[in-house]
Amino acid sequence: MTNFPLKKSEVITNLVHFSQNNLQNYSSNRNFDYGPPHHNVSKISPYLRRRFISEEEILGIILQNHKINNIEKFIEEIFWRTYWRGWLETHPWIYDQYRVHDEDQNIPKKTGIKCFEHWKEELLDTGYLHNHSRMWFASIWIFTLGYSWQSGANFFKNNLLDYCPASNTLGWRWVAGLQTIGKPYIARADNIKFFTNGRFDPQNELKENYIFNDQNSTNGKSKEFISYGEKKIKKYDNLGVILNNNDLSLHQLLKEKRINYKCCLFLKKHKTILINNFQKKLCDDIKNDDQEVVFVNNFEAIYSWLKDKKIKHLILPYETVGNKIFYKHEFLKTITNLEVNYTFYLREWDGNAFPHATKGFFNFKKNIGTLVNKARNYNRI
Ligand SMILES: Cc1cc2nc3c(=O)[nH]c(=O)nc-3n(C[C@H](O)[C@H](O)[C@H](O)COP(=O)(O)OP(=O)(O)OC[C@H]3O[C@@H](n4cnc5c(N)ncnc54)[C@H](O)[C@@H]3O)c2cc1C
Repeated sequence: MTNFPLKKSEVITNLVHFSQNNLQNYSSNRNFDYGPPHHNVSKISPYLRRRFISEEEILGIILQNHKINNIEKFIEEIFWRTYWRGWLETHPWIYDQYRVHDEDQNIPKKTGIKCFEHWKEELLDTGYLHNHSRMWFASIWIFTLGYSWQSGANFFKNNLLDYCPASNTLGWRWVAGLQTIGKPYIARADNIKFFTNGRFDPQNELKENYIFNDQNSTNGKSKEFISYGEKKIKKYDNLGVILNNNDLSLHQLLKEKRINYKCCLFLKKHKTILINNFQKKLCDDIKNDDQEVVFVNNFEAIYSWLKDKKIKHLILPYETVGNKIFYKHEFLKTITNLEVNYTFYLREWDGNAFPHATKGFFNFKKNIGTLVNKARNYNRI
């Protein structure tokens, strides 16, 4: 069972608690996996991934307790997610290549590797794994068990509450030695013993010698990030907004600007019960907060809603690589035929950061200070 809160108020309470009690030691503690409930990390990813809570809201909360210089590591981590998303925008073919080899893998019930089996069960039970355990798990999957990284990425995709096409695909590629080409991440028994505080000691269970021989591998030259969306929220008559897993709080931006709107929330059933229940409960919380929100689960229901509410302009959350829902010819043609003008809204956070995500994180990182300052200006953090 998941122990992740299902209401925004509880997510904020947990983050405040984390900020007051754990964040000052995040930098030295974050690599340890002490097991659930993982108090040394924020566990904010399932919400941030859906923008149930935004990066700006997170910064707003933690900066009440900390000076920015004292929590640089955490802010950097928040930007890792932004960076991966931006990097995939500037290298979209990498995601297509993954999809070509999109295959599932049956894992034997007993691999003889206790830590691996524990993490598999933890993931299936809770929908979450600590970052270091994701790295070890992926490394054992690829190098000890000999499965493809793509099948591992699929296993995470089907079971992570925070599944994100960019962080997941590029996280698995990084472990496989394809992201930083020629530098695979090899899980070592000593490292696992130390960073699990002795909970596991897989001596002689792991293949720790691996020769990377894919020297011809290349990621290709990055393309410039060109947005097809708008960065400004404008006021329109008969305005509609659709929320989905790419952005569950977009309507709040309209509220803040006192713009009238009608809102519907598009959610499709997830095949994994745990994830399905989790996201359904988050949506219930949104509806509790705003009774006017209408739930829809297919395109036909959206067309009916547009007609019913006489929507003339529609705002949709921007869709990055791997997250396409509405950026499809048939859908856009149909709503155009219904005389609805549409805009894909790119959040300023992403729009400011993505153009910098063309090379490695080290290069991107140099922009973090400026990006935070920009966020403080437009969002009054
Ligand atoms: C193989 C592999 C697959 C992964 N798949 C996903 C995925 O599908 N979705 C996902 O959100 N993250 C993924 N990650 C990244 C990372 O493991 C999670 O973001 C992190 O563990 C979430 O837990 P947290 O919120 O407690 O993190 P914290 O340590 O509290 O970090 C705060 C936030 O920073 C961001 N962050 C931290 N570490 C990373 C990282 N390495 N990469 C990107 N963002 C990071 C996340 O948004 C996270 O919520 C993957 C990592 C690996 C190695």
